[in-house]
Amino acid sequence: MPIERKAWACQYKCGRNVLTSRKRMETHEARCWRNPARRACASCKHLLEYDDSNGMEHEPQYLQTWHVRECKADDGIDLSEKLRHDCTLWSNAPRQPEPVGDRLDADVGQEDER
Ligand SMILES: [Zn+2]
Repeated sequence: MPIERKAWACQYKCGRNVLTSRKRMETHEARCWRNPARRACASCKHLLEYDDSNGMEHEPQYLQTWHVRECKADDGIDLSEKLRHDCTLWSNAPRQPEPVGDRLDADVGQEDER
């Protein structure tokens, strides 16, 4: 018979799995990229993401697709390699939260001290 345990989830709905340690989830929230205090792309209204292609949909063997990330506030900012945080251009606005999938973090599955 399984034992019932209390679990803690990230208040910023980032998709992070629940933890059994409240303290560890608080540590996560402090550095969560959806935490507005981080002023990160993930919670910024200027982040634009879309999929693009070379237009070869009619010849799938030549079709190439890629994911584009751009900053609408400054197109000189390169987000192709990684997103930013502590950004001076950051502005918060309601964005649709991305669907919470089965994304896994490095320490998922570990049992925490209580
Ligand atoms: Zn989070």
